[in-house]
Amino acid sequence: MQPQKLYEGKAKIIWATEHPEEVAQQFKDDATAFDGQKKGRIASKGVRNARISAILFKLLEEHGISTQLVEQIFEDTLLCKKLDMYPVEVVVRNYAAGSICKRLGFEEGAAMKKPMLEFFLKDDSLGDPLITEAHIEELELVSEAEREEIKRLALKINDVLSRFFAERNILLVDFKLEFGKDAAGNIVLGDEISPDTCRLWDAGTRKKLDKDRFRRDLGEVEEAYEEVLNRVEK
Ligand code: UDP
Repeated sequence: MQPQKLYEGKAKIIWATEHPEEVAQQFKDDATAFDGQKKGRIASKGVRNARISAILFKLLEEHGISTQLVEQIFEDTLLCKKLDMYPVEVVVRNYAAGSICKRLGFEEGAAMKKPMLEFFLKDDSLGDPLITEAHIEELELVSEAEREEIKRLALKINDVLSRFFAERNILLVDFKLEFGKDAAGNIVLGDEISPDTCRLWDAGTRKKLDKDRFRRDLGEVEEAYEEVLNRVEK
């Protein structure tokens, strides 16, 4: 029987499995930026991001964070628990980069006094806008108790990942998280953590080792993903 495609996004395909509570997440080489206006491919990105995401999710599990990951089943595919995803993206920022520089005039690379949390509405037709907690409340996207738990988890994930990357001479500048609820009602980390969804800079030179190399046509895109994978595997 042909596997059933449940959803195809910009960077991943979600497949049904024979187990109703599990899905397979296949990572693609396709890359998009600027709300899909820029399209391209990054050779071997699917395999590298699947590996990086699996390693980071396993690390988080070891630190008591529930994640969607069950196991890596192919070099570009992760078996995952099926989640009911919240329509909200959580961004954690340790240093200024990207949209916060454009929106608020921060200088790229400026250190935040403390890790900053932002929420974005997952809605392509609206361009995934930044939203406040009042907006989340009014739209009933996430309950207050769930929101507090998501904030706590996001900051804990930041602590674990910042330390892990620092040991590998990488600065975790910012990253995006998505959470969902499992069948038992637990809040679980979903989606991926990879150079597609994080800004990662070499701690010594501040060389960008993430999707900004693609967004800004900086060259050495594949090499950056490979470099992150090599350091994460150490
Ligand atoms: N990010 C993401 N998916 C999105 C938007 C942002 O993974 O749809 C990540 C992005 O790679 C960066 C962080 O979230 O690591 C913060 O992104 P920002 O708000 O600066 O937006 P950008 O200018 O990168 O679109």
